[in-house]
Amino acid sequence: MNTPVETSAASRNRFEEQWHYRPDTPIQSSPIFEWPLKPLVIWRWFADRWLVFGENIVLVILALVSWNWFQPSLEVTRTFSFDWIGAMYMRNLLLMIVVAGGLHLYLYRWKKQGDLLRHDSRALDVNGKKFTFNGQVRDNMFWTLASGVTFWTAYEVFAFWGMANGSAPLLLWADNPVWFMLLFVLTPIWISLHFYLVHRWMHWPRVYKIVHKLHHRNTNVGPWSGLSMHPLEHLVYFTSILIHFLIASHPLHILFHMMHQSLTASTSHAGYSGVSVNQKNRFALGTFHHQLHHRYLDCNYGNLEVPCDKLFGTFHNGTNAAHEKLQEKRREKARR
Ligand SMILES: [Zn+2]
Ligand SMILES: [Zn+2]
Repeated sequence: MNTPVETSAASRNRFEEQWHYRPDTPIQSSPIFEWPLKPLVIWRWFADRWLVFGENIVLVILALVSWNWFQPSLEVTRTFSFDWIGAMYMRNLLLMIVVAGGLHLYLYRWKKQGDLLRHDSRALDVNGKKFTFNGQVRDNMFWTLASGVTFWTAYEVFAFWGMANGSAPLLLWADNPVWFMLLFVLTPIWISLHFYLVHRWMHWPRVYKIVHKLHHRNTNVGPWSGLSMHPLEHLVYFTSILIHFLIASHPLHILFHMMHQSLTASTSHAGYSGVSVNQKNRFALGTFHHQLHHRYLDCNYGNLEVPCDKLFGTFHNGTNAAHEKLQEKRREKARR
C-alpha cells in the first residue's frame, strides 16, 4: 500500500517545486455564491475590488477619460466612417501598448522587482519554433496587436453604432444612479460566466487544436500573453459585449466592459501577483489561479468571480491537496 502514498508525496513535491511564489492558498472564489451568505466576507470581497486603488478603479478612470476626450459621440457613431473607427482603433492600440508593454518592460526587461511575487521564475521563451516569429514575446505581441486590438475595436464600434441607432438601449445616470453604478460591479461577474462557457468550449479537442492551442503556446505567461489568441477565439471571446443590446447601459459601461476584456487579460497574465514597491505588493495583478490553468490545462477554466470550476469539479485552489486531487482524476481517466 506504499505506492500511492509515495506517488502522492512525489507529486506534492513536484507541485511545490514548480512554483517560485504562491499567493495565499487556498485561493478563494466569490462568496456571493456560497450558502449561507456571509455578509462580512462578501463586503470584504467587493471592498478589495472596488474600494482600493486597483484594476477596476483604473478601468473606470480610463473609461471616463476616454468617454470625455477620446471617444466620438453617439451622433458621430450613427454612421460608419473610417475617421472615427480609425481614431478608436488608435486609442485602443495605444492603451494596449502602454499596459502590456509597460508591464513587460517593468517586470521582464528592466526586472524592477526581480522575481519578487513572480509565480514561475523561469524565463519567457526567447526562441521557439512553436511561436510565430520564433519567439514568445514577438508571437504574443503580434497576435495581441494585429488580431486582439482589431476585434476589440470592431466589437466596440458595433456596440456604439448599435447604441447610436437605438438597437442597444441607452441608460443615463439620471435614469437610475444606483443601477448605473451597479452595472460596473456586475460587469466582471457577467464576463466571468461568459468566459467560463467560451473557454470550456475552447478546450474541446477539435476547437483546441485549431483555435485555442495558440493561446496555450504560453506555458509560462507574460503581460503580452493575455490577449494572444487565434482570431477565431477573439471573435468568440468578445461576444460578452452583446449583452448591452439586451440590457440598457451607458457608453461608459461599454468602454469599461471592453477594457476589462482586453486590458485585464494582460494584467492577469503578468506572471506576478502584483507590482511591488519597497518590497510590498502595491498593485494587485494576478492571477495565480489562471497561471495554474496554463501549466496544467485541465483545471481552472473560469475565473474567481463566478465559481463554475467549483461547480464542475475542475477547481484547483493552489494547494497540495487540490493538486493531488487533479493527479488522481488524471490517473482515473487513464485507467478508463
Ligand atoms: Zn485554456
Ligand atoms: Zn490564459
